[in-house]
Amino acid sequence: MPNPIKTKMYEMYLKAIGVKNADELYRRIWGEGEQGHSLGRHLFRNLPSNPRCRLCSAPFSGFGAPLMRLIGKPPSTRNPHFCASCENFMTLHQGGAEIELTILFADVRGSTTLAEQMNPADFSQLLKRFYVAATEVLVETDALIERLVGDEVVGLFIPGYTGPEHARQAVQAAQELLHVTSHRGPGGPWIPIGVGVHTGVAYLGAIEGSRGTYRRRYHRNGRQCQYYCAPFVQGSNW
Ligand SMILES: [Zn+2]
Repeated sequence: MPNPIKTKMYEMYLKAIGVKNADELYRRIWGEGEQGHSLGRHLFRNLPSNPRCRLCSAPFSGFGAPLMRLIGKPPSTRNPHFCASCENFMTLHQGGAEIELTILFADVRGSTTLAEQMNPADFSQLLKRFYVAATEVLVETDALIERLVGDEVVGLFIPGYTGPEHARQAVQAAQELLHVTSHRGPGGPWIPIGVGVHTGVAYLGAIEGSRGTYRRRYHRNGRQCQYYCAPFVQGSNW
């Protein structure tokens, strides 16, 4: 049963920022970024300091952080990219938008052979080191970390977060990823990886699935259609 007060506040919020529904709201946030955002977002942006909620800019550090906790915007325990309030909002208000974005895929080459040559603990440490290196690169280039699982890393470069130069940023991230794994070093890479970057139109949204809330995106490339579905609430891989 929806809370009528929260429903009314949501309707007022949509009206205040000039959008009609959740789809338009997500298109505004993910496709256009900072343009036309609420007064609250502009206010939060002026409070120190990074890191921040990717949606409302609530600061998670500095003297702004205790204030955010007071108003119900601590970092989400399920997804460190968002504050608890925004994550709850996306869970309650399903929707999405088709936007142009850039996706970076990176995976470990020959990981099965590599795993067979190492003991499980060493292989696990190697993958952990790869995840840490990839996370640092993706955070630095303002990507959303979509996936860190198995031998694979996927980052999303979304206009609303990364800016209009999302394709350029993704290429830079790919080059940096090869650099930090020492692919250009004299001794060769400490982990062999391949990186791919693709720009295209995708549907990005928060959608309620039969087993909870899922974050889905559809990526189109001409007649080909790829479909991705990643757990949203479970958080740690997202
Ligand atoms: Zn937020």
